[in-house]
Amino acid sequence: MDRAALKQRMNAYRQKLGQQMLDGFLVTREVNVHYLSGFTGDSSWLLVTRQEAFLLTDSRYTEQARQECLECHVVLVKESLEKTAAALAAAESVHRLGFESDFMTVAQHQRLAMAAALHPELVPSVDLCSALRQFKDEYELKWLREAAALGDRALTQLKPHLRPGITEREIGNRLNILMIEAGSEGLSFETIVASGSRGALPHGVPSDKPLEKGDMVTLDFGCIRKGYHSDMTRTFILGAPDPEQKARYELVLAAQMRAIEAIRPGRNTREIDAIARDLIKAAGFDENFGHGLGHSLGLEIHESPRFSPIAPPVVLEPGMLLTVEPGIYVPGWGGLRIEDMVLITEEGHDILTKFPKTLEDMTIIC
Ligand code: ZN
Ligand code: ZN
Repeated sequence: MDRAALKQRMNAYRQKLGQQMLDGFLVTREVNVHYLSGFTGDSSWLLVTRQEAFLLTDSRYTEQARQECLECHVVLVKESLEKTAAALAAAESVHRLGFESDFMTVAQHQRLAMAAALHPELVPSVDLCSALRQFKDEYELKWLREAAALGDRALTQLKPHLRPGITEREIGNRLNILMIEAGSEGLSFETIVASGSRGALPHGVPSDKPLEKGDMVTLDFGCIRKGYHSDMTRTFILGAPDPEQKARYELVLAAQMRAIEAIRPGRNTREIDAIARDLIKAAGFDENFGHGLGHSLGLEIHESPRFSPIAPPVVLEPGMLLTVEPGIYVPGWGGLRIEDMVLITEEGHDILTKFPKTLEDMTIIC
């Protein structure tokens, strides 16, 4: 990974340390170790001091760590992570050592406290990294854009296979293969395929149900590039839509597009959620849209902030990336959702997922 990007992240992290009156931090959450150091293995911790950074790892990973962690010293763990971390922090004159209290186990904390004795002092802290990870740097955006493009490509190749008779499972498997063949490192999450009345399940895993003429089919899936996740949903209609399908599709699409149009720096997450939610509510589907409008994503599929009616509002700033994914789910009838990845830019926004989504685009003549 890019040395300049790693340096920038580490500098920003050290500023946060200073604000918290800490002179060292033990990063144990794997995704944060990856973000700050560039290390892609597991079972390793990162000790950040005011001047230095140390990746603590075992012999399986020392060579990989030397290649990946361009801004860290690599320290071989011989006995335990806790003993190595405590000894190193003391040797580096760390007095107040923060740790991610939401992610360290009780047993780890006990071992660390035993090893540290009274020095350094262990200070429970929030996850300081997640605030930095809200803003995607150029390196991250390059791979997020690519992951989104792979999803677009896989869905384009899948579309001719959406025919009556093929099962949800076959569709899901084929889409997964197409994503991998396009270059995805894995699946962002288990691909969702929900057709006909099963569409009422927002997170329906693929079943043996065959697609039938008249079904709406919701596909929600994502690709991974360099650890960065994409996320997209499209709902197709097999055959000409009936008036009810047409009206409900147009409603969800209008809600999604109005919310996206409003996205720009200065607006807050709750306002954007309300734009889509109010439209759906006004059409009488308030009870049928139970989830938040969207979520941030990056090294993880769900990150903060979120477009939500209940989470504390967050003011949008350039560099944030969130999905916009309204849907309606009607038991007995089915459901639909439309989801895109939207980057907040200086001027407004940029949509990373490009697959078409008009009713006409989604209608499959059969
Ligand atoms: Zn999704
Ligand atoms: Zn999503």
